[in-house]
Amino acid sequence: MPTQSNNNAGKSWKDKYLDSLDQQERQDKQFKTLLSLLNQATLRISMIADGMDKGLDKQLLGMRGLLQAKSVSAKELKTVVEALGGQVKRMDAIKTDRGRQVALAFTALVAQLQQLKPDSDNNKALKAFQKVAKARSADLPFQPLLLKEFSELQQRVLADNANAAPRRSWWQRLRSGSGESSAEQVQPESVAHEADGSAEPALGLGVGSAAESGSEQALSLSVAAADEVVPDLPRVGVDKSQSLEPGFSRINTVVCEILRELLQQIEPPPMAVANHEKAMQQIEQGLNWYELVAVLEQISIVIVSAFDRDQQAFESFLQQLNDRLSSAYDIISSSQRSQGDSEHAQKLLQASMRVQVAAMQNSVVNVNDLEQLKLEVSDRLDKVLSVMNKHQSGEQTREQDVSAQLDALVEQVKSMELQSQQAQLQIEEQRQRALRDVLTQLPNREAYNLHLEQEFERWRRYQRPLTLVVCDIDHFKAINDSYGHQAGDKVLRIIARSIASRLRKSDFIARIGGEEFVVLMPETNQQAAYTVIDTVREAIAQCPFHFQEQPVTITLSFGITEFSGDDDSDAVFARADKALYQAKHEGRNRVIVAPQNHKA
Ligand code: GH3
Ligand code: MG
Ligand code: MG
Repeated sequence: MPTQSNNNAGKSWKDKYLDSLDQQERQDKQFKTLLSLLNQATLRISMIADGMDKGLDKQLLGMRGLLQAKSVSAKELKTVVEALGGQVKRMDAIKTDRGRQVALAFTALVAQLQQLKPDSDNNKALKAFQKVAKARSADLPFQPLLLKEFSELQQRVLADNANAAPRRSWWQRLRSGSGESSAEQVQPESVAHEADGSAEPALGLGVGSAAESGSEQALSLSVAAADEVVPDLPRVGVDKSQSLEPGFSRINTVVCEILRELLQQIEPPPMAVANHEKAMQQIEQGLNWYELVAVLEQISIVIVSAFDRDQQAFESFLQQLNDRLSSAYDIISSSQRSQGDSEHAQKLLQASMRVQVAAMQNSVVNVNDLEQLKLEVSDRLDKVLSVMNKHQSGEQTREQDVSAQLDALVEQVKSMELQSQQAQLQIEEQRQRALRDVLTQLPNREAYNLHLEQEFERWRRYQRPLTLVVCDIDHFKAINDSYGHQAGDKVLRIIARSIASRLRKSDFIARIGGEEFVVLMPETNQQAAYTVIDTVREAIAQCPFHFQEQPVTITLSFGITEFSGDDDSDAVFARADKALYQAKHEGRNRVIVAPQNHKA
């Protein structure tokens, strides 16, 4: 039976099959490692975003649950990632809105300073500041710089203003300088009341209504005249009527609200907790113009340190992420592939992973904006995941290919099994042929020996009767001599058929020599055998053979003996043969039964 496929460069189908299984196992292992690394990375990135937004927290919690589950489908993961995308967009909109509010606040603050008619340098600086504030106020990390810049500008404008008109009250200067147009900036809905309990309505970020009311104390964001400026102004709650700053008023509630929101959004690092609390406290108590500067400085410290902390945490996270992705990449790189297809796919995956990791490293180095960095890394992770998914589906295709190959191999095995069965049948057929006499189609001497072995064994074990008959055609040589060899063959065939047809199915007849036959008769003693065999003898003797139209009588002589005593096969045959010889000697055409062996 063939054991090797001819078209397979010396490798057996079995070896190939085992190689495929090994390879599958290795791939499975590598992908599990890689996916686990990506899971960890995604979990870490999700933790960094914790506490930024309630909705996002909920989404992230769901995603973490999914990632920590024993198994997660690509479909489930996709749903969560899409929901996260929506959440990020929503947060982006909120951030833009907050930025717009901060920009408005700065515009209002600048407008108030412009009311003081600053000199051209300061005016230019204010305009430039306003431009920058408008463009960058949505930029969280940039906000402290804006606040600092504004506080410096404010100090400069106030100092100049105090020097320029020391004798006039702020209101007088403002009224004479601003004219009627200032009324257009009124925002009456933003109202604050003076701490001294004045019933005069305070103004928002404008001065118009206050101007009409004629009350200097009614101005919010009012700037004390230089002669009224003192370094340590009393806080709100202190009797302002005793203050050295009569025009002293609270900062507009809108500004306070914006600053409070800003502070609430920031979770201060330990080193800036005190600044955070102090600023919050001051805002809660209400601010005046001078306190604003101090509060802005506190806020600036909080934002800068929070940003530093987040930046460091995020950068270290990205570093870890890079390390992990790099090690994932290394695992793939080090994998040894034997199959061409899989090797190619592996190379593609490596190249994609390399590009994504390099891009992430680049982001860490070049991007300064935390949000942008997060989005970029998230985007890269999506790409890595998509590359992995693509690769995985490629692997599935390859799996299917391997499975198809296995099917083909199974088919091959089946066909080989069939061939093997056919070969076995042929061998059996040949064996049967080898055991059959060609001329008479009876079993030959070899078959007789095999059969005798079995019957003898059975007789020895069960001691059931078994009789052996040997038979020889009388004067057969004369037939050959008289009528030719072919006629002799014909006689042999007829006699073989004739004896066989008169025996039982369980009897066994074989041609063991030229014109000699044997018969093994199980379950038959020698008397019974004699009866049957003598009938056979009689029938053949009566059979009219015709040669050259001459009737010819053909007779047979028989020797019979029953297995008995301590017989072995040879002894039994010798006894039967002796009886046959006796039959010949006594005149042929007769059956002689040999006496039984009585030796136990
Ligand atoms: P006896 O009665 O003593 O057995 O005489 P016999 O002539 O039969 O005995 P002998 O052994 O002298 O001759 C047997 C002959 O049988 C010799 C041989 O030519 C012939 N013979 C043996 N095998 C075949 C065979 O396959 N075909 C033919 N036609 N003749 C065969
Ligand atoms: Mg003979
Ligand atoms: Mg003979």
